[in-house]
Amino acid sequence: MWRIELLPAEFGDAIWIEYGDGQRAHRILIDCGTSAAFPRLRERILALPEDDRHFELLVVTHVDVDHIGGSLDLLRERESLGVSFGEIWFNGYVHLTPGGTVPQPEAADLLGPLQGEALTELIVANGANKWNAAAGGGALVVPAAGPLQPLRQLPGGMQLTLLSPTQAQLDRLQPRWHAACRKAGIVPGAATAADARQLEEDEEPAEDDDLLGDPDVARLAAMPFKPDRAIPNGSSLALLAEYQGRRALLTGDAYAPVLVDALARLPGNAAGRLQLDAVKLSHHGSRGNTSADLVRAVDCRNWLVSTNGKIFHHPDGEAIARVLRDGGAGVQLHFNYRSECNEMWAALGLQRKHGYTARYPANEGEGVCLDLDG
Ligand SMILES: [Zn+2]
Repeated sequence: MWRIELLPAEFGDAIWIEYGDGQRAHRILIDCGTSAAFPRLRERILALPEDDRHFELLVVTHVDVDHIGGSLDLLRERESLGVSFGEIWFNGYVHLTPGGTVPQPEAADLLGPLQGEALTELIVANGANKWNAAAGGGALVVPAAGPLQPLRQLPGGMQLTLLSPTQAQLDRLQPRWHAACRKAGIVPGAATAADARQLEEDEEPAEDDDLLGDPDVARLAAMPFKPDRAIPNGSSLALLAEYQGRRALLTGDAYAPVLVDALARLPGNAAGRLQLDAVKLSHHGSRGNTSADLVRAVDCRNWLVSTNGKIFHHPDGEAIARVLRDGGAGVQLHFNYRSECNEMWAALGLQRKHGYTARYPANEGEGVCLDLDG
């Protein structure tokens, strides 16, 4: 079993991964969506047997409210839900300086500067030794040079390789950390959707797409690529997950050029298109995070999109069109909501014309699930 589920996470990500030999499911959770979406995740957890609520890994990709909001709720309720985590991966403030590591419990006075930052406190409460354990408590950062080797093999055999961020993205986040945390609600002060919008100040305004007719794939795909410059997005963790010969690219909100560079550094993949079984589109299918270069760097049928289209009106037509134009034959789009921002891709004539299929949740609130060994 190797299954990726995009839970309904509003305009964010909450990715529930299960893998294993059938006797026992191992689990990974990547982000927990917004706080408003957390009740769905709580329900999903409560549906597990009480003695089987373990996750090998919780990944909090970066400090935006649509990734971190529900993570705060989950960690606050960790004990009452009976949830445990083998490791938690998150680059906190201590990790933004090269060489910075998680303070050890015996150096408790070093925790001082971390006080008041709710997520960090909750992660420490889960066990400081489990925080970024794969990096010895240090930053999860792509090495400056050389081939990229797997960072961790989790119990059960899931192998994870880090593809983002590089130190350059962490350096840029450092001076912006406190503002970013305030907006994400991980320091006191309620985060609002308007705060989230401010975080994306670098986002280009939406083009006036013609929503009445079918999208013009050729025109959209040919639009110039303007890369995402939002600093928190750049700091996003992105992972290549490999299990029993199947591979998924789990991008968070990472920058496309960073992903392209990292893919080229995977051993044996210098020139080719990396064979993948699933790609989660970065930044909810934003036009600034899916370049033609990125689509052409992989060979993949299944493309997953996590967003309800609110706030930022993702996914953008340009991103989907680049996948359809450059993604090869038989692309499948998997949306975890049906929204006015993605339903244009449901048109059967359009699917036939461009040789793809589009999947939506059968019922609202179900999210979407992909079996990689199905
Ligand atoms: Zn996001």
